[in-house]
Order: sequence, then C-alpha cells, then structure tokens
Amino acid sequence: MDRQKMLQQLGNVPQWDIIVIGGGATGLGAAVDAASRGYKTLLVEQEDFAKGTSSRSTKLVHGGVRYLAQGNIKMVREALRERGLLLKNAPHVCHNLSFIIPSFHWWQKWYYSIGLSMYDLLAGKLSLGKTKMLSKKTTQQLIPAISSKNLSGGVLYHDGQFDDTRLAINLAQTAEEQGATILNYCKVIAFTKADKRINGVEVQDVLSGKKYTLSSKAVVNATGVFTDKVIELDDPNHQPIVSPSQGVHIVVDQKFFPGKQALMVPKTDDGRVLFAVPWHDKVILGTTDTPINEIALEPKALQEEIDFIIQHSNRYLSSQIEYKDINTVYAGLRPLIKIKNKKSTSILPRDHTTIISDSGLVTITGGKWTTYRTMGKHAIDNAAFACKLPKKNCVTATLLIHGFQNKTTEADDILSAYGSDAENIQLLITDQPSLQEKIHPALPYSKATVVWAVQNEMAMTVEDVLARRTRSLFLDAKAAVEAAPLVASIMAPLVRQTKEWQQQEVTKFIALSKTYIIQ
Ligand SMILES: Cc1cc2nc3c(=O)[nH]c(=O)nc-3n(C[C@H](O)[C@H](O)[C@H](O)COP(=O)(O)OP(=O)(O)OC[C@H]3O[C@@H](n4cnc5c(N)ncnc54)[C@H](O)[C@@H]3O)c2cc1C
Repeated sequence: MDRQKMLQQLGNVPQWDIIVIGGGATGLGAAVDAASRGYKTLLVEQEDFAKGTSSRSTKLVHGGVRYLAQGNIKMVREALRERGLLLKNAPHVCHNLSFIIPSFHWWQKWYYSIGLSMYDLLAGKLSLGKTKMLSKKTTQQLIPAISSKNLSGGVLYHDGQFDDTRLAINLAQTAEEQGATILNYCKVIAFTKADKRINGVEVQDVLSGKKYTLSSKAVVNATGVFTDKVIELDDPNHQPIVSPSQGVHIVVDQKFFPGKQALMVPKTDDGRVLFAVPWHDKVILGTTDTPINEIALEPKALQEEIDFIIQHSNRYLSSQIEYKDINTVYAGLRPLIKIKNKKSTSILPRDHTTIISDSGLVTITGGKWTTYRTMGKHAIDNAAFACKLPKKNCVTATLLIHGFQNKTTEADDILSAYGSDAENIQLLITDQPSLQEKIHPALPYSKATVVWAVQNEMAMTVEDVLARRTRSLFLDAKAAVEAAPLVASIMAPLVRQTKEWQQQEVTKFIALSKTYIIQ
C-alpha cells in the first residue's frame, strides 16, 4: 500500500459508489465487502488503521461463552460461524487456542462442560475441537501457575486467538487488492448534501492539512465510539445511541503464567469474565467493564481497573503479580448500543446495529472483532438498498485475506503472523543482512519489519510501527520507548524526513507511552 498513490486517486475518481468512514474492524470489513462486490470504494480513517478500539481487544476470535450463559444463542451461533470462517480465510493471523475453566466445586465441572458442549455443537462443522473435563492433576499440568487452593479440576474448550492490528492491516491490503482506495490520517469533517440527502464528504488530510470534497452515492459511518459525533455532522439534534464501556488489560511476562493454554474465569465480582491469555510470548490479563462518559482515542486505565485485574488474577495464580511486574497496560472503549434505563454496561447487548438516517447515511456499530465480516456485509447491503446501488452479492465468506497461506499454524510466533509476506521480509534481510538485527533485545521484531511496515503497510509514524505494525507497545511499553529512536532513524530516509522529524516522532511517542506504562 502506498499512501501517495492513494491520495492521487482522490483526484482521479469523480464519484465513489461507497465511502466508508472509520478504519477499525467494522470499517475495514465494510471496505473489503464493498470492493469485493465491485463497488468503487474509498475508506478514510482519521488516524491510523485500528488506532481506536480495534487494537485494544483481548485478541480472541470467539463465539462468546458468556453470551451463551445469557441465552443469546443467535449471536453466539453467528460469532462461531465467523470464527470458523476467519480461521479458514486468515489462518496466518488466527489460530486455535485451548482455554481452561478451573472448577472449585464438584458441580462446576459438569455445569461448564454441558454448557461448553453446547458451544461446540453450535459451531457445527466449524468446531475447533471437543470440550473435555479435566482432573485436578491434569488441570495443574496444563496450567502450572494455577493455585491449587480448593481446585477440583477443570474444563478444556477451544476458541480462536488472533493479532488484532495485523488482521486490520491485512484487511486494508485485501480491500486495496480488491480495488478499494484506503487512506489513513484522513478525517471526515463534514457531509455535502443535495435535497437533504448526503451526496459526499469533506475530508482533511491531517498530515498535510489539505482538504478534499468527495462525491459518493453512499456513505457508511463505521466509527465505533465516535459514531454519535459523526452522525451529529449530519444531524445536530441527534440523540446519542452509543454507550461507551472501557475495558482494560495488563500484559506481564510469561513466567507468571507459563504454558500454552489460556485461563478463563466465567464470573468475577462484577459479573465479568477474566482471561489470562498467552500472546506473543507474554500474557494478557483482563478485562474490565466500566461505563465511561469521555470518548478519547487514547483512553486511560483507571487505578481501580488495574487493581481489579491484579487482585482477581492473584486469586487464581500461585505467583503473585505486583504493579512492578506490568509490562504494559492498555485500555479500549466498547461501542455498546444504549438501552433505556440500563446503567451497567456489562448487561448491554454485544450485538451490532445498523441505522439508515433520513439523509441516507448508513451507520453500523456495536458488535465485536469476531463478527467484523457480517457487520461489513450488513453495512453494504443497507448502503446498496438505501442509496439504490446496483445489487451485487457479498463474496467475503470465502475471500482469502492478504497473507493467507495454505497451512494452519498452531504457533503464535511473530513472523508467521505476516503469513505469505514473511518471505518478503526475509528477502529484505537477504539483501541487507543488518536488517536482521532486533529493534530491542526485549522485543521480537527485526529492523526488517520496520522497513516492511513503511514500504508496504502505510506506516507513517513511529507510533504506527511500534503500536500497530509491530505490537511492541502492547508487549513491553518501556522497551518500545527505548526502541523509538532507532525506529525513527530507520524510518526517516524511507519517508524522506529530517533529523527534526525523528526527534519530534520520538518525543510524541514518549508522551503517548505514558498511558501504557505504570509509573
Ligand atoms: C477491552 C476490549 C476487549 C475486546 N476484546 C474482544 C475480543 O477479544 N474479541 C472480539 O471479537 N472483540 C473484542 N472486543 C470488541 C472489538 O474490539 C470492537 O467491537 C471492535 O474493535 C470495534 O471496531 P470498530 O471498527 O467498530 O471501532 P474502532 O476500532 O474504534 O474504529 C473506529 C474508527 O473510526 C475512526 N474515526 C472516528 N471518527 C472519524 C472521522 N470523523 N473520520 C475518519 N475516521 C474516523 C476512529 O479513529 C477509529 O479508528 C473488545 C473490545 C474491548 C474494548
């Protein structure tokens, strides 16, 4: 992907069929869907792809065991189908992972194993493996860090795991390969209208300041927790529909949770699920569910959320985690749909919603990463209907995602997440062996991944490279800060920038990292 070429296309296309606003999971899914149906498609993202909620997930491709307990069978079945399709279409970046629910009373093993057998059943042919009851001894063998206090055994089931921003970048690449124009750092600042109907958008390239007025038959609003702000550009009297809920994760070293299996505690004190998930040789612990009023691109974890995760994790683990052990803390905002008189966000539904405004604007929000494809399909079905586009069928159920390789990977290693591009990264190293050097001793990424990100994945800033092309900021925030000057120096000649740019980028990144580092 080449941003300069994408910008040129803005001037070359007199009218788009569909403009998608928002480059998170939902918008990228909609852009892939629209382009692969053959619609002339443009996606604009105000910051970087997946800068919002879509980089801050628990990294699970799942049906949602919790929603099964709530009786939302339709949603679980849909998510399980999507889980199966994603593992088929993007096996390089999504893989099967075993989860263990520990049991502390004899009846729990039976209760969870009956529920999870139904989960397997709902997955049908796309099941990832059978649920099994485990003895206390096997549970301890599979989760060596589990505290043995009152442990009576466990239940093992399967779900999917992925790297959220790597998939987002692969979706942007897939959309481009299907003919879409995809732009990061382009913000929609206004709609244009004729006879009260939206007929285009005004966007600003936030890197150059240049504004563009673009004409389109249909416009899709896929802006997550910013949904209401974008609808207000169309209708200043709009009543908010999104209720943001904050979820926090902490990342610690694997020594606190060795082994390949994940731990899942179905019910914490506030009714949430607690996960301990091995990811890229670290462990993600979370999450929380805190109703929040302020919508920010960089939400901040609250002290009580971090305390909650530490306290609950320590209840189940034999090694006790302390503040000093946290490598990274990150927060994300769920775009949940408001329901009158419901204040607790943990009971708000996780389904998605599509709204067609009187102006023709199609808004899609809610849902989860796992269902990004069906959300994209529903958005484009509605846009085609509302804006009278020629009918074209959705083809994404079998569309292979950029990086696809015809081999299933059980492994969660860094280079295999690049799929077929891993070979090209290796070629960079063959041409210039010094690119094999790591960007930091505590991070798994080579200098070659930085070059690759700039030359092929539209990385524009040091943050783009360290937070979303590589996952350095999410794996070890202090190491990412230490790697920033080197990353800036590798990037500068590639993006034709000066020493001052390098310094500014490093300063900006250090300021950003403060949200991710426990002081
Ligand atoms: C803590 C947490 C854990 C989660 N874990 C999981 C999980 O394990 N599995 C799972 O399936 N789901 C999970 N989810 C849910 C999932 O992450 C979200 O549902 C999904 O990422 C939302 O994607 P989105 O594209 O709708 O929103 P976002 O990712 O927020 O994307 C919206 C984009 O719109 C852009 N934008 C806003 N305004 C404008 C504008 N004016 N012009 C241009 N662009 C604009 C924003 O910059 C943003 O990038 C989790 C969510 C949270 C918060």
